[in-house]
Amino acid sequence: MKYVFQIFTGDLSEKSLADPKQILQKLTIVHKAGKLAGVLCGWTKDEEFFQVLGEQLHQWGIPMYLKIAVFSELTGYQSFDPMIDYYGEPMKPYVLNPEESFEFRCPLSRKNRDALLHIYEQHYAHLPFDGIFLDRIRYSSFISGVAGIGGCFCSECTKRYEAAGIDVEQLKARLIQLEEEKDLQLKAYNQGEWTLEDPLLDAFFKVKGEIIEESLKEYADHFHGLGMKIGFDLFAPAFGYFCGQNAQRLRQFADFVKPMMYRHTTAPAGLPFEKDRMVSAAGVRAGEEFEHMAGSSEEQFKNFVTKELQWMKTEKGCSVWPGIEANYIEPIALITPELLQDNLCLLKSLGYDTMVASWNLNRIPMENLMALLDH
Ligand SMILES: [Zn+2]
Repeated sequence: MKYVFQIFTGDLSEKSLADPKQILQKLTIVHKAGKLAGVLCGWTKDEEFFQVLGEQLHQWGIPMYLKIAVFSELTGYQSFDPMIDYYGEPMKPYVLNPEESFEFRCPLSRKNRDALLHIYEQHYAHLPFDGIFLDRIRYSSFISGVAGIGGCFCSECTKRYEAAGIDVEQLKARLIQLEEEKDLQLKAYNQGEWTLEDPLLDAFFKVKGEIIEESLKEYADHFHGLGMKIGFDLFAPAFGYFCGQNAQRLRQFADFVKPMMYRHTTAPAGLPFEKDRMVSAAGVRAGEEFEHMAGSSEEQFKNFVTKELQWMKTEKGCSVWPGIEANYIEPIALITPELLQDNLCLLKSLGYDTMVASWNLNRIPMENLMALLDH
């Protein structure tokens, strides 16, 4: 197996949180074992960090990608258009802890879309990146209940719904009703796409998917024009659909995607966490649909990951580098070498040869790094 590592360096900060010496020590071990395939790192403004890291990686012939959030975070950047909820108010962020909150912005807004390009030009265009890896390219998930997946209702988004034949007042009322009833009425799931029984809600999620796809297509064209590769950080497809990510469609113009297959993470993007939130917001039937797909046993997340990665392997599109949690972070990701080995065997049995050791190399203990090198 070959590995791509993620390095979190801080949010538009002046100085990288990651120490380049420590990072390079770990990367050297992996490179010497012939298993290093790439590095996704960002998004501090500390140029020296990227220069030092880039120089070493390029000597080894390994690509360095700028990892950067798009429709969330970017603290300190001038201004954004907020996501508007179905009551007409700016959507409240989901606060995980005092250090981390999940706030999303309207992905249709021209100002929000252009922000990434401005930030890139200002801080990163002159640095030795081979490509860009886009994070938070979605709407909120069920983390804030129906309110999380119920945006956006700004004037631009409203026009788009109307153009798709949606009665916007009826849609708002339906989403408010959903908060009470907790029954999303999922009908069927197939390769990253859900069908919903209610045509109004079905159309709503389709339009959200189109908006995300259109924004990412713009970025892909832009960065390809600069001779760079582009990769997408995706939710596990069955959950990503509700956040506007249609994994199979997005694979048609990216160079690689990293679906987050976090079986053991009890925080946003972690499968147990997102499933619980989906069931509490979308109802028991959503849980039954999930179990219909993945089974109800203790192994359901393993079955789920297997099924998702099976179809992604055979369907046409760019490379898929599954994101598997390799770091040990209390209390949300207690990853041991044994858990890691189990996932590695699974990926190999499905024919995968590259994965993203997620989600922060700084937090990968040496015993977990060694477990990676065994495969
Ligand atoms: Zn909007």
